[in-house]
Amino acid sequence: MATLVKVDKNGSKYYEGLVTCDRCGGDGIYKWGAVINGRPQYIGTCFKCEGRGKVIDKWIERTPEYQAKLDARRAKRQQAQMAEQERIRKEQEAEIARIEAERAKEQARKAISQYVGEEGQRLTMDVVLEHIGSFERSAYRGWGTETVTVYTFDANGNKLVWFTTGMGLDEKEGDSLQIAFTVKGYKEYNGEKQTTITRVKVKEVYPPVATEEEEESSSNDEEVVSESADADAKMSAFQFQWWTVEVREATGKMGWEVKAKTKENAIKAIKKRAKEHDEFVQKHRPDFQTEIYWDTLTLDRDGYQRMRCG
Ligand SMILES: [Zn+2]
Repeated sequence: MATLVKVDKNGSKYYEGLVTCDRCGGDGIYKWGAVINGRPQYIGTCFKCEGRGKVIDKWIERTPEYQAKLDARRAKRQQAQMAEQERIRKEQEAEIARIEAERAKEQARKAISQYVGEEGQRLTMDVVLEHIGSFERSAYRGWGTETVTVYTFDANGNKLVWFTTGMGLDEKEGDSLQIAFTVKGYKEYNGEKQTTITRVKVKEVYPPVATEEEEESSSNDEEVVSESADADAKMSAFQFQWWTVEVREATGKMGWEVKAKTKENAIKAIKKRAKEHDEFVQKHRPDFQTEIYWDTLTLDRDGYQRMRCG
């Protein structure tokens, strides 16, 4: 007793009709519980068909051509899904292999590092300035915090680490240097032997291999130099070593000193210091503004005679 409701453009026939109830099997009686002496323990009226034994159902009859088309479509979809899963699996495998290879390489690199010299020994070595980092800590004296700069050097595979709250170096990451230093102690960090050093002096800066990026950044520095052209003119007669610039903040002004051999290096160092300071301030007091007073460059001549320009 089926009624054809409609036929769509694919030739699929939509039927509606009474079919045998699949819950009770058509007798309208539902039985459950243990069967004792051929009789089920419980018997009741089937609630799906309400005892009628038939229920209204809907179904579709498709033409074999259209069914084949649907099957092909589904197969294609499943194939695409499987291909995608395979691609993701391969990508993950490649990523895991890459991480493992990197870890192995890092461990091999760390294993090379050996302790250098003896405690208290003064040494001179060729190194590459590998990394410059910094962190803030409570100042030993007075109010506020101080910045500790961490320099990491690679001395032919051996790791040297220098913590300083002082002036630091003008040199940047990747620079090849000759440094003199005093061995302070030894520690193992993340499976790597590191020699902590102190009293670092740069003896020699080896000429860098300039990249396009570096050329670009040095041309940016020149713009800053021209901002202080007037001050530059006044200092041109002296051989300065210490450089100070004042920085305006929401609460007032503060000054920084940097030690540099050239104007370019001084400005680089001040900009770097200002950037770090700004990041620190932004993190803790985003309402603060820092601004450098380039026109208040304060200079020391060879670390002795102080004079003020601008
Ligand atoms: Zn039923």
